[in-house]
Amino acid sequence: MSELLELFSEFGTVETDVPLSKMTTLRIGGCASYVVYPENTLGLDALMHVILERGIPYKVIGKGSNLLCSDRRFDGVIIRLDRFDDFFFMNDALVAQAGCSIIALSYQAMKNGLSGLEFASGIPATVGGVTFMNAGAYRSSVSEIIDGVFIYRDGRYEWLDNKDCRFGYRSSIFQSHPDWIIVAVRFLLKKSEVNEIRELMDSRRERRMKSQPLNMPSAGSVFRNPDDIPAWKLIEGIGYRGRRIGDAMVSDKHVNFIVNAGNARAEDFLELVNEIKDQVEEKYHVRLHMEVERFNW
Ligand SMILES: Cc1cc2nc3c(=O)[nH]c(=O)nc-3n(C[C@H](O)[C@H](O)[C@H](O)COP(=O)(O)OP(=O)(O)OC[C@H]3O[C@@H](n4cnc5c(N)ncnc54)[C@H](O)[C@@H]3O)c2cc1C
Repeated sequence: MSELLELFSEFGTVETDVPLSKMTTLRIGGCASYVVYPENTLGLDALMHVILERGIPYKVIGKGSNLLCSDRRFDGVIIRLDRFDDFFFMNDALVAQAGCSIIALSYQAMKNGLSGLEFASGIPATVGGVTFMNAGAYRSSVSEIIDGVFIYRDGRYEWLDNKDCRFGYRSSIFQSHPDWIIVAVRFLLKKSEVNEIRELMDSRRERRMKSQPLNMPSAGSVFRNPDDIPAWKLIEGIGYRGRRIGDAMVSDKHVNFIVNAGNARAEDFLELVNEIKDQVEEKYHVRLHMEVERFNW
């Protein structure tokens, strides 16, 4: 057993040579040398000491639902906080560890008669991932219900207030500090009727099922919406519905989704993205920006 493998195994579960295609919803990506699932906050702290001391590249990932990983090997450590899945309710607050599924939490909140997470009940993501992205839907975003974020940075744990997180449209301070790790989040919810919450969640789910290609691997919306026009209208306008490069294909159900229609390569996906950007710019003089994050290029 290699020295690193032996060392990492002290802090949690370790896997070696794991394809990122197995850890992302797009099902694209080369092998990662190590995937570590720290057992708890002490394990994470010990792991980070080793990683930082030795200058090993690392990346925390949640459900990998916003990532386009290259097909190259990642010679580093992927940290997964799947073991950080505890949560508790305290009056109207919900405190959840970063590895919790936001879909599962939205159902728990509903059962407790707490409203605020309905919009997130169809986002296939973790608490860490939605906070990093300030994910949102139906004119709501997660920053509106975040009271505080518990993070690990520079070798210590601390709480940040909502305003410290500098949330904006699909953005947060965490995007400019990829070395920080989101460990837990405190949400402030509102008391409401269970049936009302359930109805809203059901209608949201129906809307998603009608409008999104949920039966195919994707990373959700590929492009951020420009200020005055939704990205899908621009993509529709250049006639790209169903356009395909290799197995990367603009969904014919939702044109801001690019799906993996088989064994898409990362390069195919990116080539299609770049074509769309260029065509949209030529026709509408608007430059689209990716919402999906490129990793390990
Ligand atoms: C079918 C589908 C529907 C979607 N619908 C929506 C939607 O309605 N609204 C929306 O906003 N998005 C949507 N998305 C996109 C995606 O789910 C979000 O961007 C989500 O926030 C990503 O969460 P994740 O846990 O999968 O994070 P990942 O994709 O694993 O990671 C995203 C980024 O967050 C960072 N990160 C993750 N966890 C941590 C942590 N604990 N600490 C520090 N950094 C961390 C990663 O390093 C990475 O940079 C959708 C995606 C799919 C596939």
